[in-house]
Amino acid sequence: MVNNLLDTKIVFLKGVGPKKAEVLKKELGITSYQDLLSYYPYRYIDKSHFLKIKDINSEDISIQIKGKVVGIETIGLGPKARLSAKFADETGMVELVFFKGLRWIKESLFIGKEYVIFGKPSLFQRTYNFAHPEFEPIEVFVNEQQKQEEKFSPLYNTSEKMKNSFLNSKNISKLIRTLIIQVKGYINENLPPQIIDEFKLVSHQDALIQIHFPSSPEQLSRARLRLKFEELFYMQLEHQILKNFRTEKSKGFAFGKIGDAFNDFYKNQLPFDLTNAQKRVIKEIRQDMRTSHQMNRLLQGDVGSGKTLVGLFAMLIAIDNGFQATIMAPTEILAQQHYYSIKKFLDNMPINVALYTGSTKQKERRIILPKLEKGEIDIIIGTHSLIEDTVVFSNLGICVIDEQHRFGVGQRAKMWTKNHIPPHILVMTATPIPRTLAMTVYGDLDVSVIDELPPGRKPVQTAHFFDKSRLRIFSFIHKQIQQGRQVYIVYPLIQESEKLDLKDLMDGYESIAREFPLPQYQISIVHGKMKPADKDYEMDRFKKGITNIMVSTTVIEVGVDVPNASVMIIENAERFGLSQLHQLRGRVGRGAEQSYCILMTSYKLSTEGKTRIKTMCQTNDGFEIAEADLKLRGPGDIAGTQQSGLLDLKIADIVKDEPILKVSRSLAMQIAQEDPTLSLEKHRLLKDYFIKNKPLTDFSQIS
Ligand code: ADP
Ligand code: MG
Repeated sequence: MVNNLLDTKIVFLKGVGPKKAEVLKKELGITSYQDLLSYYPYRYIDKSHFLKIKDINSEDISIQIKGKVVGIETIGLGPKARLSAKFADETGMVELVFFKGLRWIKESLFIGKEYVIFGKPSLFQRTYNFAHPEFEPIEVFVNEQQKQEEKFSPLYNTSEKMKNSFLNSKNISKLIRTLIIQVKGYINENLPPQIIDEFKLVSHQDALIQIHFPSSPEQLSRARLRLKFEELFYMQLEHQILKNFRTEKSKGFAFGKIGDAFNDFYKNQLPFDLTNAQKRVIKEIRQDMRTSHQMNRLLQGDVGSGKTLVGLFAMLIAIDNGFQATIMAPTEILAQQHYYSIKKFLDNMPINVALYTGSTKQKERRIILPKLEKGEIDIIIGTHSLIEDTVVFSNLGICVIDEQHRFGVGQRAKMWTKNHIPPHILVMTATPIPRTLAMTVYGDLDVSVIDELPPGRKPVQTAHFFDKSRLRIFSFIHKQIQQGRQVYIVYPLIQESEKLDLKDLMDGYESIAREFPLPQYQISIVHGKMKPADKDYEMDRFKKGITNIMVSTTVIEVGVDVPNASVMIIENAERFGLSQLHQLRGRVGRGAEQSYCILMTSYKLSTEGKTRIKTMCQTNDGFEIAEADLKLRGPGDIAGTQQSGLLDLKIADIVKDEPILKVSRSLAMQIAQEDPTLSLEKHRLLKDYFIKNKPLTDFSQIS
């Protein structure tokens, strides 16, 4: 392949050498020509334009100014010495500060001489400072300008280590320029001509050159579009091919029968009407389960939207067809809760339900496991203990997985192996993922959404208070308890400062216990360091209404259902992420009473912290919150996305580039449908790309 030139090791590029190669590898993971070419600038400076000093008005944005050095002085001695240069144009003066390489800088900066500098200003005592700006004598600058067609000079992210090894943004730009001269003409197209024509894309080669050294804003935006398109398109194509493979080739049970279990439950047991959204999703699941392909469906629904019940219907379908079902929850408390609520739902029906978790006693295990193997248990509910090899089913037909983000992709796959034919899989998540993300992260799953809460729920009222309002909050709690309600008070628990957090929790508990003394008030306390049995005991007392207040860490975050609890107080709310706050708030508002969520914070709030609190006070909609979260944190931190490869995106942004994502996705679907193994001649370039870049996609298995 001609492309080999781009696979050349970076150390061989003129100007690199072993030392810089090492730094590039360590700091940026760059090892080949190709890697360096794909290291895109984060911004550009318009070289045709200089900013006047009087017009500098913000910090943190790199700018370019033209002027003269009017003074140089060395301040301090030895390693603490720094060099300060006064730099002026006809409108004002700034200070250039250098801490390193002072000798070299002294030898290159001359008073009275004209330079072009660029860097980031920061305001200090009413003067703008530039720490280690890049500078160039005006004649060199002009000279270079004339040599080049481009007006825009690229800026590259670099680290301290890189700068110390002479790999600042400018050095990188020079290296890339050298590289481009060398490989121009050898950068192969990686999309078939019909796609390039249809979407009017520039060539791969032009895009790579223009993204580094654009000749105009228009060229730059076309280069961007092209590179974003190919990045998103290939990601989507990979998903579609895998998904096709799963639905076309993999076997699954065909559960065509709807029988007594389903019908009896629906007609006689269900204590309320299903919401339209629940009905719709149950239909989608029925549709999936009757085909002879394995279902792999993600069910998204806000907290309290009634996902468990939908999962139960899916399990009843399996039972009607003579198979077993299981539901796997991320924590013991949740597994128990599912167990009790499902047992209650199925009361008096001839369906055997068992609970199996880490704390199930040996004696019980010896009873449950053989029964399961013989098919005498219809539904088994548990934690990841269910994955253990000792757990053997007679014929597992469906696995419902609650709260997806707690389970790894690998754990999900492990359930497939519990049968000769893989069981249907329904993944339920209460962390609503924005649609764009769901499309990309779970590209290999089908997605259903419950976008409606059961009727009669009053939206939770959310308010923000500073710590000094604690007395007001206490009196509010008194009133709620008098009305028979129950209250959660939650403290953060963050791994790194576990001890401090635990202390906060205990201190908090003590002051609450003083304010709400025995015997009039009962308080439960639950945290991660307690024995499971003690935790359960306390949870149970709260559930039964024996205790009025539950003081806890975030162990109650997921799924706990106590409809009588009407107040959620979150301490140090600024330390929680948005999705966590939303999860916690979802613990209240489950009954008929008006519920409240109170976010307590100190005065010290970061801008981001403020935005989170404000978002919480403004909306109850999980999807809106997930969108806000995505904007604040970027996709990398969103629960569940860690292993998804989203972090590998070099240029596309799945939030901002949704339109490109949509187009490239439908194209990918069309291609994967027409040619699932990419064997047609017109798709040769696509297949080459996969073989080269996605070695995990096993075509031998697919074709
Ligand atoms: P989540 O989606 O958060 O898992 P759950 O399945 O725990 O929600 O349901 C929350 C509560 O709403 C439960 O007490 C459940 O019994 C109840 N519920 C579910 N569906 C309905 C419905 N259609 N009408 C009324 N209540 C419902
Ligand atoms: Mg739930």
